Amino acid sequence: EAKIIDGKKISEEIKIELREQIKEWMQQENVRAPQLTCILVGEDSASQVYVKNKMKAANDVGIKSETINLPKTISEDELIQIIERLNDDNSVDGILVQLPLPDHIDDKKICNIVSCEKDVDGFNSTNLGRLSQDLNTMVPCTPLGVQELLKKYDIETFGKTAVVVGRSAHVGKPIQSLLQSDGRHEISGMDCTTIMCHRFTPPEKLKKFCREADIIIVAVGKPNLIREDMIKPGACVIDVGITRIYDEETKKSKLVGDVDFENVKKVAGLITPVPGGVGPMTVCMLMKNTFTAAKRLAKLRKEKLIK
Ligand code: NAD
Repeated sequence: EAKIIDGKKISEEIKIELREQIKEWMQQENVRAPQLTCILVGEDSASQVYVKNKMKAANDVGIKSETINLPKTISEDELIQIIERLNDDNSVDGILVQLPLPDHIDDKKICNIVSCEKDVDGFNSTNLGRLSQDLNTMVPCTPLGVQELLKKYDIETFGKTAVVVGRSAHVGKPIQSLLQSDGRHEISGMDCTTIMCHRFTPPEKLKKFCREADIIIVAVGKPNLIREDMIKPGACVIDVGITRIYDEETKKSKLVGDVDFENVKKVAGLITPVPGGVGPMTVCMLMKNTFTAAKRLAKLRKEKLIK
């Protein structure tokens, strides 16, 4: 039976480390605490929960945070102006625009307004472009969390075959970039051979590719897409998917991933649960990115002062 990858435990450990590192950095450099600003447009209840969790995690590690709540009727231009003000605001280190945005606002455009230095979500096209070139960059939080789990559990990636299911710009694609990154380049490379599957990959091909994989990473949002007959014995299975379903047994709603967990764990070598796998790592990596942004910006400000 597979070993369970405990994302909750790892994320708690990383948060304790981060808390110490931030405290030390503030004392050594004589600087203020890192500051994360979240923009929440509208009243989507899932988004509200996500933002609240991010604020709580920030508080846990000693990052100051603020949420700017905006009505869903706000115009794209007004939103752009608010982000531009935050870009110029020296008291802000990280800016996060919670997605999805209302239909009348172009989220790609908005993600590109956030300055590269403060883009703690890593969704700016420049940062994503740098990632695809194996250059050091702000890596999106979920892909970074997946990478961190693979590292913490000593999962060999060099020369291994990885299948990524789901090709979204913020999750699937950056995960693939990290997995196939070249260890001789700037970024810490994982040197996998990757196969990317998506909604038009025929089911029998999806099964064939998955059965060849040493590592399977699924980010789709379809419960039970990955079943036990699709797994090579001993493979590592990372489930990014989150779907809320109604549980007939308990008569309550619950969160599930894309993997048929109970059956797949009989064949896999390692597996992440949902919840408690990738989810907590995502929030934790947001804190890591905010600290990285704060350090870089503080250094830039100091250099400017010296000049
Ligand atoms: P998305 O809707 O943007 O992308 C889904 C992808 O799945 C698409 O690329 C599509 O081609 C592919 N797909 C759809 N049906 C498929 C099929 N039958 N076979 C293979 N591929 C198929 O979603 P996203 O933003 O990438 O998120 C994916 C999932 O991950 C969602 O469930 C989301 O809630 C979850 N998610 C979790 C975290 C976390 O922190 N754990 C973070 C982000 C997203």
